[in-house]
Amino acid sequence: MAERSESESRKLLGRLRETLAEDSAGQERLDRITHLIADSMGTDVCSIYLFRDADTLELCATEGLNPESVHQTRMRIGEGLVGRVARTKRAVNTPDAPSAKGFRFMPETGEEIFSSFLGVPVQRLGESLGVLVVQSKDARAYSEDEVYALEVVAMVLAEMTELGAFVGDGEGAMQARHTQQAMFRGSTGQEGAAEGRVYLHEPRVVVTNPISDDPHEELRRLQDAMDSLRSSVDEMLGAMGRGADKEQVKVLEAYRMFANSRSWVRRMEEDIALGLSAEAAVEKEQSATRARMERVPDAYLRERLHDLDDLSNRLLRLLTGQGSDTGAEVPENPILIARNIGPGELLDYGKKLRGIVLEEGSVGSHAAIVARAWAIPLVINAKRILTEALNGDPILVDGDQGIVHLRPEDTVATAFRDKIAMQTQAQARYASIRDKPAVSTCGYEVALHMNAGLMADLPSLESSGAEGVGLFRTELQFLTRASVPKRSELAAIYGSVMDAAKGKPVVFRTLDIGSDKVLPYMKPQDEPNPAMGWRAIRVGLDKRGVMRMQLQALIRAANGRPLKVMFPFIAQFDEFRDARQQLHDELAREEKLGHVLPSDVQIGAMLETPSLGFAPRQFFEMADFISIGGNDLKQFFFAADRENERVRKRYDTLNVSFLTFIEQIVNRCKESVTPLSFCGEDAGRPIEALCFAAMGMDTLSMRPASIGPVKSLIRRSDVSKLRDVIDEARGSGAQSVRPAVMEWLTGGGS
Ligand code: PEP
Ligand code: MG
Repeated sequence: MAERSESESRKLLGRLRETLAEDSAGQERLDRITHLIADSMGTDVCSIYLFRDADTLELCATEGLNPESVHQTRMRIGEGLVGRVARTKRAVNTPDAPSAKGFRFMPETGEEIFSSFLGVPVQRLGESLGVLVVQSKDARAYSEDEVYALEVVAMVLAEMTELGAFVGDGEGAMQARHTQQAMFRGSTGQEGAAEGRVYLHEPRVVVTNPISDDPHEELRRLQDAMDSLRSSVDEMLGAMGRGADKEQVKVLEAYRMFANSRSWVRRMEEDIALGLSAEAAVEKEQSATRARMERVPDAYLRERLHDLDDLSNRLLRLLTGQGSDTGAEVPENPILIARNIGPGELLDYGKKLRGIVLEEGSVGSHAAIVARAWAIPLVINAKRILTEALNGDPILVDGDQGIVHLRPEDTVATAFRDKIAMQTQAQARYASIRDKPAVSTCGYEVALHMNAGLMADLPSLESSGAEGVGLFRTELQFLTRASVPKRSELAAIYGSVMDAAKGKPVVFRTLDIGSDKVLPYMKPQDEPNPAMGWRAIRVGLDKRGVMRMQLQALIRAANGRPLKVMFPFIAQFDEFRDARQQLHDELAREEKLGHVLPSDVQIGAMLETPSLGFAPRQFFEMADFISIGGNDLKQFFFAADRENERVRKRYDTLNVSFLTFIEQIVNRCKESVTPLSFCGEDAGRPIEALCFAAMGMDTLSMRPASIGPVKSLIRRSDVSKLRDVIDEARGSGAQSVRPAVMEWLTGGGS
């Protein structure tokens, strides 16, 4: 960029800084700024449009247009050239505005005499705050340098807006940011409602000095920060060692690539040369990255842009000295807000959290499993919440609808509290039937067990009234550690689980890793279809060491008590026979070593692939019990990825084909007198659970929080009549029996 325009730009930014320092009202500042910009850039017009609400832009200050139109002229996002800049987050530069695509003439502004138009987005960290426009009578095209210089000014405006520099009193004045109600629509990770205060997992960095008049000093600061950044990335990579998680290494390698990227650094150096401080330069590039992130359809490229975003955050923290731990106090009823979070970090926060909101995350993620185990309401995919929420803000989380209300108005908060009160009443109702059996009005009894995976889940055994633990997912102990746990550690944990169960049965499922559950210390497989790949029992049988160690730990934990072991993801008879034999071998070995054997050993299989439903009769006879892992079974039955919301929701659990398959499994188990249960998520959905019961299922295992609602519905319904309703619907050629079941339930369910 030319020396002259650099010094012009610095001069302009210097004046903007003076304006910021002056003790004047917000509107005065805005007016002065438009004057300064028009003067410095030699244009007839300079106007600032800011968002009045999420969709409406308002002309907030102008030099050159009709002053009467300030705070009168408004447009919706996407409307006219200004609206286009806001929507696309890209500059519009045209010498002949009236003939540009999307031009809309605003007569009250008197802009018809101005031909050329240059508009740039005012954005902070990818969030649109407004649009900065210059216009001239002559049909000039603004040079690249001028566009760039205006973007730098827009960046400073964005920071000033964020710092509240334009806030004022009276009609038409701008409101302070982060003070108004905002609603975010994400998706459900865990049901339930919670009210509390925001607690940011990683507080945002605040840039208080966007402008600097000493570019040399700022370049040096950027240089130093870049050096520290590069060496910290190198250190992290060096510490990974052999056998490290391939994905993590890939991310760090991308970090290293960006940290050494000349073009990234050069852009920031240019920003500094034009008068920005080092941190403002980093943020300006970060904003551009985020805007790009929204436009890139390719998931891989988007991930890389995320990496660059992370790296920018690190750089900002280095420059501002603001660590990720600001010492902010955890508020009462904390609602955690994060972009994403690992299960380990979540476990560190413990159960004190009232709710969790993630900008990303997925239903099948480990964090979601932990949140579900604790029944903490979780909303995922709440886009942009991190740019809006401040520590301590009041917040309502509606996990049922996947909606979050930030700084809610009273009417919203009141309606929400009513909802919580209703849920509390329902909880009280469930508590009153806690010790009663789940018997339908026609006398059909269903045993309700709970799913667990953490020691912390065990107290729910008593509070929920579950008859036992129908599925103990042992992988959580492996997922939340940095290395393979020792046999003695596992034996101690399993022993405590049995102690806490106080004689109620616990079904331990052996390690189910692979697919979405990748252990941090295991070499991930490069598989195109991990859900159908090398996972669960397939790993256990191929790499026997870990499974043997786990079986030994289970035998020792039982220490003379009954033991129930279940092998996951059995797809054919031989796998079960083989795994079962392994357990028998370990029992013999433990006996030889002088350990006390369990008083009784029951060995079961999880039916998670359709193939096992067609296994030889001998399999059903050999298994001491079978549990249907509906989450996996459904995804393979319908060929619909359980983590892909788009296809997952297409196929109803109450689809006639699926229910008929369940019925077939029920009948095969009846023939061989093999106890059968269902332990996928659907077992915890009252209507699904009731239909499973109608199909002859008499044991269900679910999240503890679901036991009350499921039991309550079973106790109110006539399961044998429901069976008639289902059979009639099946005979009618319906795709799903749900409409018929719903109609019957609405009529009283009896
Ligand atoms: C299932 O697949 O239904 C199941 C219970 O196992 P997981 O969800 O752990 O794969
Ligand atoms: Mg499964």
